[in-house]
Amino acid sequence: MKIGIIGTGLVGSTIAYSILMRKAATSIVMIDVNKERSAAEAADISHAVPFTQPTSVSSGEYADLAGAGIVVIAAGVNQKPGESRLKLLGRNAAIMKAIVPQILKYAPEAMLLVTTNPVDVMTHFTATYAAEMGYSNHRIIGSGTTLDTARFRSMLGNYLEVDSAHVHGYVIGEHGDSEVITWSIVDIGGLPLADFVRIRKLKFDKKVMGEIDKKVRFAAYQIIEGKGATYYGIGAAVAQIVDVIAHDQRSILTICRPTHDISGVGYTTVSLPHLVGGRNIIAPLQMKLNEHEQQALAKSGEIIRGMISKIE
Ligand code: NAD
Repeated sequence: MKIGIIGTGLVGSTIAYSILMRKAATSIVMIDVNKERSAAEAADISHAVPFTQPTSVSSGEYADLAGAGIVVIAAGVNQKPGESRLKLLGRNAAIMKAIVPQILKYAPEAMLLVTTNPVDVMTHFTATYAAEMGYSNHRIIGSGTTLDTARFRSMLGNYLEVDSAHVHGYVIGEHGDSEVITWSIVDIGGLPLADFVRIRKLKFDKKVMGEIDKKVRFAAYQIIEGKGATYYGIGAAVAQIVDVIAHDQRSILTICRPTHDISGVGYTTVSLPHLVGGRNIIAPLQMKLNEHEQQALAKSGEIIRGMISKIE
């Protein structure tokens, strides 16, 4: 499958590299307003092709997206000194408004996969702009909390000393401070978490849960403090989403998309577990959450709804 990437800064380029190394695409087209940057990144990444499988990696124009199955949006601007978060949101929404018609003009069959932050709000506006052009919402998703769910599984797996592939549990809601860890439905290889820790004689109480929660929720802050940006985790997460769609793998992923399903919140965009596959298969999976988690999810949905309303 041909994959387009719009915005080839740290995140977009790492996504391209991760897709290549994962052997998930037949060709990758990289587009950026900074053409020198996209050309240089594409050249650099293409030199890794001999170490993986034959894949065309190039930079180009929007017209080069013709025939793309998925277009990833990783374009964005950073906060200017003294700029409010809301102003930054407005500037990134304006970028989505400029990009979406260009993509759909040349790749009307493509799925759009948004990663620009705040990813829930940007996915919402991408869907709005696409709908204005008569394009179905079914083909617009955001990476959402896919990365946060991976962080949670990895950190809990480390604590329990078990392969994180056996840790089933999700991070849902906002990709940000109000995200919700679904502790009540966590299982380890089919065993409820409480049974697993009892059998393994592990200490597991509210304090341990609180520490893991904090590490997951604020992981990005810590990384940004140390190196200025995060990009490897999101690169691998997006490469997985692309692989799942390109090869119809029917994985359960916490992507985000617009929804009316969060009780009392109205139309908003949050991350929830979805069955994801090829040919536009994206079906939400209702999880049985406890009351506290349901309330936290509604609150998270409201926070995102609030940001959307302010920009609208
Ligand atoms: P960056 O500044 O390195 O790259 C952004 C790129 O976007 C630049 O190359 C810039 O030229 C390009 N760009 C800006 N306007 C454009 C336009 N109109 N058309 C095409 N390209 C345009 O930033 P980054 O570190 O790569 O981050 C990109 C985005 O990804 C940010 O919004 C960041 O917050 C987000 N991000 C998301 C996650 C997640 O989990 N969803 C994780 C990390 C970063």
